[in-house]
Amino acid sequence: MKKILAGLLIMMTLSACAPQKQSDKLQVTVSFYVLEDLTKKIGGDLVQITDVMPSGGEPHDFEPSTKTMMTLSDASLIFILGNDFEPWFNDAYDNVKHDGQQVVVLSEGIETLINLDTGQIDPHIWTSIRNIITIMEKIKIVLSDADPIHQAQYQINFDLYKARFEALDLEYQKVADGRKRDVFVTNHAAFGYLAQDYGLTMIPIMGLEPDAEPDASTMARIIDLVKQFKIPYILYEDEANADVATTIAQETGAKTGVLRTGESLNSAQVKAGDDLISILSQNLVWFRKALQE
Ligand SMILES: [Zn+2]
Repeated sequence: MKKILAGLLIMMTLSACAPQKQSDKLQVTVSFYVLEDLTKKIGGDLVQITDVMPSGGEPHDFEPSTKTMMTLSDASLIFILGNDFEPWFNDAYDNVKHDGQQVVVLSEGIETLINLDTGQIDPHIWTSIRNIITIMEKIKIVLSDADPIHQAQYQINFDLYKARFEALDLEYQKVADGRKRDVFVTNHAAFGYLAQDYGLTMIPIMGLEPDAEPDASTMARIIDLVKQFKIPYILYEDEANADVATTIAQETGAKTGVLRTGESLNSAQVKAGDDLISILSQNLVWFRKALQE
């Protein structure tokens, strides 16, 4: 009797799972938080999004797991950024069963910057709000092609968020227009695109990857620049890598502030319900202090 019951339970569980598999939502797998958030903004409830990056994960050091392979194989659309931001992707994708998935490289056609210290492409194109709007538009087109019945809804969502990002861009422009200096200092060399939009220069402490430590001569050069331009705030991305920014602040009499890329959310941000718009609004407060005080 017990065996029969157990068998029945398994069957019930299996059939309870079945409808999820047949969900008529578009299954979209994305490579990191920025693409998750932008896809959610355009797709809303019409898409089922799986982010391969665990919350609090570091996209620069990501290594795919068996679970990653499964989410790649289950997706109908796979969104990656490109520009070598996902060096793990090609090998991982080669190893999954190809069953009609469409891989979309969302950075395609967007002009890139080269990091002068390393000669590498700077992948952080989304630190430009104008590029965010371009990426969202591509997402809208791809979702509309894959699911034409809901094209009008994707367009409505795009128009709504385009307006919100344009309003933010205008606020950033106003802050830049009222600046006392053309330079700002950040630990993670991720804000070149932000700098470019408003005619500014970013002085990065670390490299393109947030944990690439500077050498003594780089430190000395940055300390000189901070004094020369009377830079009031040294901006860092996360408490976890604030040490060098804090040291430079102490050496120069500057204070520290926070400028985040949104490339991943920490647990406090997840709890607070943050998204790219709230992160950009929080960044704007420090951006103003760093440029105008
Ligand atoms: Zn980064």
